[in-house]
Amino acid sequence: MTPELSPEQTPLSLSPDLLESVRGIAATEHLLVAMDFDGTMSPLVDHAADARALPRSAAAFAALTELPRTTTALISGRALDSLRAVAFPPEKTLLVGSHGAEVWMGPGSAKLELDDDRRELLAGVRRELEGIVEAAPGTLLEDKPAAVVLHTRLAADDVAVDAVAAARAVLQQRPGVFLKSGNRVLEASVVHASKGEGVAFLRQASGATATVFAGDDTTDEDALANLLPGDLGVKVGLDFTQAQFRIEAPAHVAELLEALLRERKRALGV
Ligand SMILES: [Mg+2]
Repeated sequence: MTPELSPEQTPLSLSPDLLESVRGIAATEHLLVAMDFDGTMSPLVDHAADARALPRSAAAFAALTELPRTTTALISGRALDSLRAVAFPPEKTLLVGSHGAEVWMGPGSAKLELDDDRRELLAGVRRELEGIVEAAPGTLLEDKPAAVVLHTRLAADDVAVDAVAAARAVLQQRPGVFLKSGNRVLEASVVHASKGEGVAFLRQASGATATVFAGDDTTDEDALANLLPGDLGVKVGLDFTQAQFRIEAPAHVAELLEALLRERKRALGV
């Protein structure tokens, strides 16, 4: 019979190398824990509004938020309002939405405002995409403050591929429009932003001396590729990545955050 293990001894499925890196980064002066939300904190779901962080991930993340010299952040492709509606972030958690185009650094943060040219450009982009969605059953549009997103998750595979190809064909040469592909989404933004810039901004804003970032999608590669020596980048899932480490699923993100919490508390002596 296996003897009962205390929580402290519970074996993790994280690799020894990853645990070693967690131990190392937990001792940094000021730690930034920046997490993607969908597919990372939350399992992927068909309806974006149904996404919720796994309870263990949310609990460890909230506990990290309360530690001294530790900043937590969510960095998402979602618009900030949409991110808040599903993530219920702790009050002190910094938020980066729209892949970096929107930031919330606490009460009084300025809202993203588009100038007239960009507003007009965005309206034109929306008209193009409306035409494509009408002809492609199962696809739909989502409006963000600086972008329109074509979602194809609920469409048949061939319809999805054709819709994205049609959208690319009309939008990719248009000056001032920036396209981003994700997991069955194509986003057309009128503001240039990336999660790499988002993480750089968070690092500066928090005064972090080391950053942990985890994400599952192609847009997270921008952030993973722009981490600094001493940071810790983790890819969630089996797709191609430049990350140092890979874990398979959001359930392992919970283990990562719990390990980080345990080691950070040990390093801080709290
Ligand atoms: Mg994601």
